[in-house]
Amino acid sequence: MQQDNPQAQAPVAARIVTCVECGRQVPADEVIQFGEYSVCADCKPVFQQKLAEGSFRPMTLAFASVGRRFAAVSLDGVLIWFVFFIVGISVFAALGKSGLAASMVTLSTIAWPIFSTVMSAGYMIFFTGKYGATPGKMALGIKVVRATGAPMGYGLATGRYFATFVSSMTLGIGYLIAFFDEEKRTLHDRICGTRVIRT
Ligand SMILES: [Zn+2]
Repeated sequence: MQQDNPQAQAPVAARIVTCVECGRQVPADEVIQFGEYSVCADCKPVFQQKLAEGSFRPMTLAFASVGRRFAAVSLDGVLIWFVFFIVGISVFAALGKSGLAASMVTLSTIAWPIFSTVMSAGYMIFFTGKYGATPGKMALGIKVVRATGAPMGYGLATGRYFATFVSSMTLGIGYLIAFFDEEKRTLHDRICGTRVIRT
């Protein structure tokens, strides 16, 4: 019995993709693929134009609310503080046991500030560089991307980490401007050309 050939019978499900330019749902075989971007036939000319100018912004980006971003940053703060607390307690307990009181002074005045600075920088740069999101952002379902929606990578993640200090130094105004921006950009997002989106 050869007539039950599943390959011949299975209907080819028309895969639907979203045009990054106009946001319309289009069958996959009707779009033009530009790297990771799917573009419908109507949008192809304008898309190519924008790509050439570097002014392309995908319709499919859903910008994360300021509240959600604030919650993610707070959660990261708690996580980092918790790790520091555990590490700090362990190190001081070990030193206390071995009676190295002098080392404890050195540790708290010199080594600790260096350790905590390097640790928080490492945490932010590693997670946003590799995944586009720190654990706090992951928990809130948001991530940082380039304006095109492409991943940041370690280089831009490092730059963006240092740019956050600029937002902090402006008495937090660098953060508050996100409320008034239609793409919810902070000052460091503007500096780095990044956006924070819902995943
Ligand atoms: Zn389109």
